[in-house]
Amino acid sequence: MLHVHFRTIATGGGRLSHYCLVIPGIVCVAASVALTSLCDEVVPTDPVPQYYKGNIHTHSLWSDGNDFPEMIAEWYRTHGYNFLALSDHNVLSEGTRWMKHSTIIERGGNLTLKKYQARFGNGWVETRGKADTANYAVRLKPFDEFRSLIEERGTFIMIQGEEISDRVNKKPLHMNATNLQEVIPPSGGLTIREAMEANLRAVEDQARRTGREVLVHLNHPNFGYGITAEDLAFVVRERFFEVYNGHPSINHLGDDTHPAVERLWDIANTIRLSELGAAPLFGVATDDSHHYHGKPGSHTGRGWIQVQSRYLSPEHIIRGIKAGDFYASSGVELKEVSYDAVEKVLALRIDTEPGVQYTTRFIGTAKDHGTTGTPENKEGGEPSSEQKYSSPAIGKVLATAKGETPQYRLTGNELYVRAVVTADRDHPDPSFKGQQQQAWTQPVGWRGHLQ
Ligand SMILES: [Zn+2]
Ligand SMILES: [Zn+2]
Repeated sequence: MLHVHFRTIATGGGRLSHYCLVIPGIVCVAASVALTSLCDEVVPTDPVPQYYKGNIHTHSLWSDGNDFPEMIAEWYRTHGYNFLALSDHNVLSEGTRWMKHSTIIERGGNLTLKKYQARFGNGWVETRGKADTANYAVRLKPFDEFRSLIEERGTFIMIQGEEISDRVNKKPLHMNATNLQEVIPPSGGLTIREAMEANLRAVEDQARRTGREVLVHLNHPNFGYGITAEDLAFVVRERFFEVYNGHPSINHLGDDTHPAVERLWDIANTIRLSELGAAPLFGVATDDSHHYHGKPGSHTGRGWIQVQSRYLSPEHIIRGIKAGDFYASSGVELKEVSYDAVEKVLALRIDTEPGVQYTTRFIGTAKDHGTTGTPENKEGGEPSSEQKYSSPAIGKVLATAKGETPQYRLTGNELYVRAVVTADRDHPDPSFKGQQQQAWTQPVGWRGHLQ
C-alpha cells in the first residue's frame, strides 16, 4: 500500500499540489518525518501551469528611484508577488557603485539609509567615510549580489531588466527589455518608429547572441504624448505595450486631442488586423515605481501581470507572456481566462471579494467597421490619426456582463475581442482621478482572421 503525501502551496492567484510517496513499513515514524520534509524539497515533475504574479517595470537608486534594490524587492516579495524585474533607465545594476549619502537623502529623505540598515543589518549594508560628512557613501549592491538574499525557488525570483530610455524630436520613447544580459544604449532615430525598430533589433540581436529569452514592451505611450496609435500599430515587430502604468504623469486617460491609452490599444490592433495582417499588441500593467517612502508619486502595488506558467523562471514567465497566457491588473484578480476557439467563447472566472460588484465589458472591432479610408477633417487637409480613427466602431463595447463568470460568444464578424473587468470600488491608491480597480485580458479571436 502506498501512502500519498500531499503538500499544497498557494502562490500568486493559483494553487499547486506537490506529492511524493512514502512507503509504510520501510520507514519508521521518525524517518518518515525526515523523508516527508525531504520530499517537500523535491523539484516537481511537470507541474501544472498556474498564475505567477509580477511587476516588470521598477526603478531603484541605480537610476532615478529613491530606494535600495533589496528594499524594493523585499516589498514585492512580501506582498504576494512571484517575480520582479528591476528596470532602471539605460543601466543595469552591475559593477562597483558608491552613492553619496547626501544624494540618497535628496532623493528619498533622511530615513532611507536607516530603514535599509534596520531591515538588513550592518553586516549587509556597506558604507564608507564618516557619517555626517560630505564623503559618507553607501555601496549600491549589484544585481547578482542581492538576488541571492531575496530569491526563493518556486516563490520569488528577480529578473534583470532595463528601461531603454530614448528620445526622438524631443518626444520620449521608453521601452523595457526584460531578462537582458548586457546593457543596451538607446538607438535613437529620425522618427519614433525608426527608433522603436532599432531598439527592438538591438534587443533581438542580444537575445540571439546570448541565447536568452528577452521581452520588450513599449512603455506609457501617452507620456509626453510621444507615441501615436499608428506608431504602435506600424512597428509590428513590437508585440507588447503598457495598457496600464501606475505613474501618475503618464496621461492614462488622454486629453481633448489624444486618445486614452486603452483606446490607443484598440486603434492600433484594428489597424494591425485590418490593414497590416499583423498580430495584435498584448497589454501589460506595471508600477513604474520610483517613490517608496509614502510621498505622492509612482508607488508599488498599482499595476501587475499574472502569467500562466509551469515554472517560475525568467524564461518560462517570458514564454507565457509571449504566448498571450497572461492578464494585466490594477486590482482585480481572475481565477481563469479561457478562449474556446471552436465554440468561439471567451470566458472569465473572477476572483471575487465580498461586497464588490464586477462589470465586464467585452470590447472589439467588427471586420466591416468600414471607417478607415473615409477620414473627415472639417478644417480640410490631412486628417490626424485621431480624426482618422475616431469612429465609435473601433474598440466598441460589444456586450456587458455582471457577476463572477462573464462570457462572450464571438459572432465571427469581429477582428478581435478582449475583456476588461471593473470593480465598483475606488482604487485605494489611485494613479489618476476616479480610478477603479480593473483587469484586462488579451485580444482573442484574431488568429482565424490572419490565416
Ligand atoms: Zn519611462
Ligand atoms: Zn520607468
